[in-house]
Amino acid sequence: MSGETGKFRNNFSIYRCKTKVYQDDLPDTSVVIVFHNEAWSTLLRTIHSVLIRSPKKVLREIILVDDDSERDFLKKPLENYVKNLQVPVKIIRMEQRSGLIRARLRGAAASKAQVITFLDAHCECTVGWLEPLLARIKENRTAVVCPIIDVISDDTFEYMAGSDMTYGGFNWKLNFRWYPVPQREMDRRKGDRTISVRTPTMAGGLFSIDKDYFEEIGTYDAGMDIWGGENLEMSFRIWQCGGSLEIITCSHVGHVFRKATPYTFPGGTGHIINKNNRRLAEVWMDDFKDFFYIISPGVVKVDYGDVSARRGLRERLKCNSFSWYLENIYPDSQIPRRYYLLGEIRNVATNQCLDNMGRKENEKVGIFNCHGMGGNQVFSYTADKEIRTDDLCLDVSRLNGPVVMLKCHHMRGNQLWEYDVQVRLLLSHDL
Ligand code: UDP
Ligand code: MN
Repeated sequence: MSGETGKFRNNFSIYRCKTKVYQDDLPDTSVVIVFHNEAWSTLLRTIHSVLIRSPKKVLREIILVDDDSERDFLKKPLENYVKNLQVPVKIIRMEQRSGLIRARLRGAAASKAQVITFLDAHCECTVGWLEPLLARIKENRTAVVCPIIDVISDDTFEYMAGSDMTYGGFNWKLNFRWYPVPQREMDRRKGDRTISVRTPTMAGGLFSIDKDYFEEIGTYDAGMDIWGGENLEMSFRIWQCGGSLEIITCSHVGHVFRKATPYTFPGGTGHIINKNNRRLAEVWMDDFKDFFYIISPGVVKVDYGDVSARRGLRERLKCNSFSWYLENIYPDSQIPRRYYLLGEIRNVATNQCLDNMGRKENEKVGIFNCHGMGGNQVFSYTADKEIRTDDLCLDVSRLNGPVVMLKCHHMRGNQLWEYDVQVRLLLSHDL
């Protein structure tokens, strides 16, 4: 126990959060939980934690959306079970497997509350999770707010506190990633870690949004299937179209991070995720979509359907460009806002290409035959004169020493490269 108190005392944010007081007249919320083949225990843990840890006054209803699960206990037994709970629980059944995006849209449409709160079906809400989310939306209805996502182990169900020092980003392949909260964001909050973190992207499973604002801003892209990409799509859209996306550091919800998905992706996992990612790249990323396409050249063959309605939405809402987003919201992005070149680095004498050999940190780069397939042979020479591929930069610390890939540090030095156009030579600035 003493270890436990010690942990709290050392954590400025949690300690200060305990003394916060929230208004009495918070907006009410529907909690929307979609699921496909979820386990009974995890689904019930989610529902019960919502019931016992949310103020009765603001919890309007729980809406469960069954995305055509194939497990009997999720049918009649679930209906019987939820009948006796203290809060209305509605169950909506999708007629066919639709994916989390369209299932959430159905749940949202059924909501009668002022705020919609989305949760995955394997979460545990902690004491006081809801009030700070709703309070922030009351303060600013265009703030879309996420709790800190604590980690529930999928082996032991151990509960581990998530960090308030990471926020959401993404890499060139459009994978969502956590990155350290940069100094500029600490400065903006004057070091007060109980103030929400403006996050460039969200993980997507857990957030609250004002219902009218959800509709104004274009809900979700209903052309996206099953899983993936919808979180980045929504993140870009919120920021580019004038809203804000924030991590509310005084709100904690646990989530079971699973090593494997318990469900299938009809049509193939890669195909579906590539399709969804193409839709968001085509609508929101302008020319910066090249970073995605050049590192994964295979995706350009994937049909992404019709995005004209989503482009129309962007027009109608007069949204900012992706360049604006990179400059104002995500200057520490892995995609450089300004760059000279994007492509392969070819030795004109030998006709061979620089290859990052699988992009492992601290490993030597190599020289290989140019394969023209992007991936490990794609680099960007940025306006800051780094040579980067994704979040790693070419780095050399010794004369004749090996050139390795290291995390980009933006401090120039070993990662600053001069290109002599005349002799077509790349030189490390320092050596
Ligand atoms: N889900 C769904 N239909 C699908 C895929 C997922 O309803 O076709 C649900 C899933 O049961 C979960 C939520 O969507 O409640 C998010 O999916 P998951 O937890 O697998 O995503 P992750 O947390 O791994 O990103
Ligand atoms: Mn999940």
